[in-house]
Amino acid sequence: MQQDDPDITPVTETAPIATRTHGGRAKCLQRLTRLSLPVPRTTALSFRAVKDIAEGRMPDVACILAPFGDDPLLCVRPSSEDPDWGGPSAVLNIGMNDATHAALSERIGTEAATRLYNRFVRSYAIHVERLDPDMFEDLPVTGPEALAESFRAYHEETEQDFPQDAATQLAAVLRSMARAWRGTTARLLRQAKGAPADAGLGLVVQEMALGLGKTGECGSGVIQLASSGTGLPRITGRYLSQSQGREALQGDSRSMFLARDARGPSLEDLAPEAFATLAEYSRLMRYRLREEMQCEFTIENGNVHVLDGVRASRSARAAVRMAVRLAEDGVIPRDEALCRVDPRALNEMMHRQVDPSAKRDLIGTGIAASPGAASGRLCFSAADAQAAQSRGEACILARRETGPEDIRGMHAAVAVITERGGATSHAAVIGRGLGLPCVVGLTGLQFDMKTERLIARDGRNFRAGDMITVDGTHGDVLAGEAPLHEASQDAAFQAMLTWAEDYCDIGIRANADTPADAETARKFGADGIGLCRTEHMFFESGRLTVMREMIFADAPDDRRTSLERLLPMQRADFTDLFRIMQGRPVCIRLFDPPLHEFLPSDREGLRELAESLSRPLSDVTRRAEQLSEYNPMLGMRGVRLGITVPEIYDMQARAIFEATIAASEDGVPVVPEIMIPLVSARREVELVKTRVDAVAAAVRNETGKDFSFRLGVMVETPRAALRAGEIAPHAAFLSFGTNDLTQMTYGLSRDDAGKFMSTYVKQGVYPEDPFHTLDHEGVGELLTIGAERGRAARPDLVLSICGEHGGNAESIAFCRAAGFDYVSCSPFRVPIARLAAAQLNI
Ligand code: PEP
Ligand code: MG
Repeated sequence: MQQDDPDITPVTETAPIATRTHGGRAKCLQRLTRLSLPVPRTTALSFRAVKDIAEGRMPDVACILAPFGDDPLLCVRPSSEDPDWGGPSAVLNIGMNDATHAALSERIGTEAATRLYNRFVRSYAIHVERLDPDMFEDLPVTGPEALAESFRAYHEETEQDFPQDAATQLAAVLRSMARAWRGTTARLLRQAKGAPADAGLGLVVQEMALGLGKTGECGSGVIQLASSGTGLPRITGRYLSQSQGREALQGDSRSMFLARDARGPSLEDLAPEAFATLAEYSRLMRYRLREEMQCEFTIENGNVHVLDGVRASRSARAAVRMAVRLAEDGVIPRDEALCRVDPRALNEMMHRQVDPSAKRDLIGTGIAASPGAASGRLCFSAADAQAAQSRGEACILARRETGPEDIRGMHAAVAVITERGGATSHAAVIGRGLGLPCVVGLTGLQFDMKTERLIARDGRNFRAGDMITVDGTHGDVLAGEAPLHEASQDAAFQAMLTWAEDYCDIGIRANADTPADAETARKFGADGIGLCRTEHMFFESGRLTVMREMIFADAPDDRRTSLERLLPMQRADFTDLFRIMQGRPVCIRLFDPPLHEFLPSDREGLRELAESLSRPLSDVTRRAEQLSEYNPMLGMRGVRLGITVPEIYDMQARAIFEATIAASEDGVPVVPEIMIPLVSARREVELVKTRVDAVAAAVRNETGKDFSFRLGVMVETPRAALRAGEIAPHAAFLSFGTNDLTQMTYGLSRDDAGKFMSTYVKQGVYPEDPFHTLDHEGVGELLTIGAERGRAARPDLVLSICGEHGGNAESIAFCRAAGFDYVSCSPFRVPIARLAAAQLNI
């Protein structure tokens, strides 16, 4: 080796080592060296050198060995660019042979030396010669006969004596590790973690610090300053006397805590000076490497050696707490702390989660529609869910799919699962709005609604009353009651949100339908409400009946009477929303769904309705038939209903204006935003605008009070996007409803696509589920066209997106780039969207 060969270089303060060329471990060891920490002598092999070795071009191994002096004992560890990509297992004690065994026996005792030798022979046999580990399974582990047995087994399989030459051993280890990196399994594993196909591997060759000996304390372990599970500051780790490498972590009952601990012995008690030194080194590493690190160390005769430092592993909530504390301690600036956290990690702090270390008895997997986890007893109808709630029992509502009739059941349940549906299906949208764990499109689990059973692929049956757990974060359904971690929006969570606000340069509003949603939205710092789906207000008990009466009214006058009963309810709803939002914008969407959604779907329900309306069943059935459509999502809904049954929009406009007056009396002036859904033609907007203006004039006249409002259009049909230029002059804002827009652009039912979506994604037809991840190419082009044409016609046009994509980082990036004013998402996604937006601006 030439002293200045960058591909095989001793790790010194000045050596040309970079993560990109030698891997993260080599770079970290260089940093530790620069901190003057006692790192054993190390040589780093670059990606290029390791590639050469894998391809049969072995460098001069004697040169690699030279810096380590005579008869060294070495270890070789992998050094990939990102430590998360893994790598082949480290091999320890290379150089062990009969001569070093004899010398070591003097130093550390024959038994310990023999144990080391034996372990090396076996690990060499398994990792380098690829012998079957089972061969060594039943052989003795200690004593001279153990070593003899290992040699015998080695010879029997390889027909060679165990190599005694250190250079031969090292060359074989390097070759085997270099080749292991190229194996198919290793490649697939790291690619699943985001590694590029051509990711390189570096290797570090390090002098062993033994961890075994007769004088003073000897052993090895790991230490870190914050808990990987909670992220809270606490010295954690394990230490094992007379051990090497990561043995302390392998469950040996003699391993101990680092810091003094009531639960058992600790290094702090055993070797207080070494412990204090280690804690000091760890603090220095945290401060100078600007990260919570895990330090691997060995103690030899009471002296501490630092072998390695890796970024401490962390749960999502620990990631938030660690980043915030690093910033609060002045180790990193706030903007860097914000960028250290995956926005989705905030989910863990807002919802309960299945303990990641718990065993999972998986019975079904579907689309993770709404994050969080809950356990409860299975029930199969909304009525049963309500009954369970009234008994104080946690229950999980299982439906083929949900509809308006299930809303009360969803409120009563702790989680919801459906057989059908996708990311924007009814259950998914409502689940996210309520913060209710939800898994939809559970294809592997059979829903037998008649006998009220779930049948798992393995044949197990789960009946009403059986306990299951829904993991909405991962899209899993588990048998039994899994241990859960509580949600905790602690000071670190709040700090993250507050700091994110300082960097966020796009508005983040919430989709909030009820006062409870609005409270959540405020709590999470939403800038306003971007979408209030008013129809959800009609599902509450007491209102559904009035709503149904309105639907059944034959004549406009009868309909007006029912609407008059709905008016005060809506007025109260809107007043509440305005008051909760304290002057922040509230965008109310006029009634959108097809009317028949409000009618019962089965005979029993129709009979009950006939009873409550005092009308013959045949009447009710006939009306329901009249209202039913072949394609309701493309039928009489949205603005089409507003134009053909205008009394509904009139009532809603009046309720909004009267609530505006009432809430403005509190002192904060309210300027409501009214949004027309499912527009496809300019004339629709003109017609609705004329009527809404007339209602406003009437309310002003009647009350003698003035108010302003803003009327806008929801762009959910491709035509509305294409014709935005002629729509914009009549609209103060355009809000893109990407759920329907995706549905209509692809011609893909948002409620049925879940059935085949995974096949489509697996086969690469779509890169992702377009209802989940905004399709930048197709739907995105419509967004761009709509935004450009709209703004060209009206430069002050406010633009936003309010479909379920609104909270995703990549759609926020898209909207920011396209000059949108805000995104709107479910209240529980506001913090995630806020952090994602802040990261885009840092
Ligand atoms: C949409 O279509 O994107 C939307 C927000 O409206 P909804 O989901 O209520 O149809
Ligand atoms: Mg829509």
